[in-house]
Amino acid sequence: PHSWPTFSPPLRKRSSWVQVVGHAGNFQAGPDGKLLKKYCKSEQQCYQKLMHDSLQPFVPGYYGVTQHDEQDYNMMDDLLADFDSPCIMDCKMGSRTYLEEELRKARECPQPRRDMYEKMVAVDANAPTTEEHAQQSILKTRYMQWRETLSSTATLGFRIEGVKNANGTCNTNFKKTKGKAQVTEALQDFVDKNVPVLRCYQQRLTELRSVLENSNFFRGHEVVGSSLLFIHDQTGKVGVWMIDFGKTMPMPCPLILDHRTPWVEGNREDGYLWGLDNFIDILSSMLPA
Ligand code: ATP
Ligand code: MG
Ligand code: MG
Repeated sequence: PHSWPTFSPPLRKRSSWVQVVGHAGNFQAGPDGKLLKKYCKSEQQCYQKLMHDSLQPFVPGYYGVTQHDEQDYNMMDDLLADFDSPCIMDCKMGSRTYLEEELRKARECPQPRRDMYEKMVAVDANAPTTEEHAQQSILKTRYMQWRETLSSTATLGFRIEGVKNANGTCNTNFKKTKGKAQVTEALQDFVDKNVPVLRCYQQRLTELRSVLENSNFFRGHEVVGSSLLFIHDQTGKVGVWMIDFGKTMPMPCPLILDHRTPWVEGNREDGYLWGLDNFIDILSSMLPA
């Protein structure tokens, strides 16, 4: 049914692919600079639409479904393939990272959860209410909403998930990186205070914002749990791409989202553009006047 564009991509050297965050075991190296990600139908549907949307330059090229050891995979470009020992950062966009549907499901079976109470106490002994302390358990819906307030997700509309530095070390310890000052410091570390790299990222995000504001795909989807992947190397090459569309869901026609209106349950707004506005403001404030 689909006719893929018949260009021949240039031969690319094999990079040693690294995964910054996400479930280990979801990925396999594919043929010539491609990456296989464990099949997810909603992600496939997004990539198929994105290949025909104005956002196409901002997502990895998508090549359909392939099998490997009896498992289905979505095949896409390995975004690292053109970089030399890249620095990589994964930032999860939006003011919430669960779907409205997940909240509804969690509410349908409202068992008190002791494991979630314990996770909450481990992070902040003062977070549970008196009643929750007495019951030594909390509801899953409560846990989901509380978790978003730990990082900058609720306050800035994005959070740093993980970073791989030039020396190869990975840091995924950003769960409590919340304030503007802390985020700024983490970003300065990531770019190693390199102003030209910072400027490239700021320009690329500004371009992405204007494309998002005019994208048919973006208008018609609730984009939750999706990341921006930031990649640069010592040669001065810099790029940002959108990845991870497993929780990106089409809106019923003719409903659309503006991605900036604050979320109230039922409006399905995801705060993606609000987060991108904040991100661009922070990068701008880090650049010399
Ligand atoms: P989660 O839902 O927990 O965030 P996931 O299993 O859906 O994880 P992704 O978020 O898609 O996985 O990817 C995890 C990591 O794998 C990214 O942070 C990035 O380091 C790497 N990665 C994913 N897609 C690509 C790609 N096209 N090119 C290069 N690296 C990628
Ligand atoms: Mg992800
Ligand atoms: Mg995912």
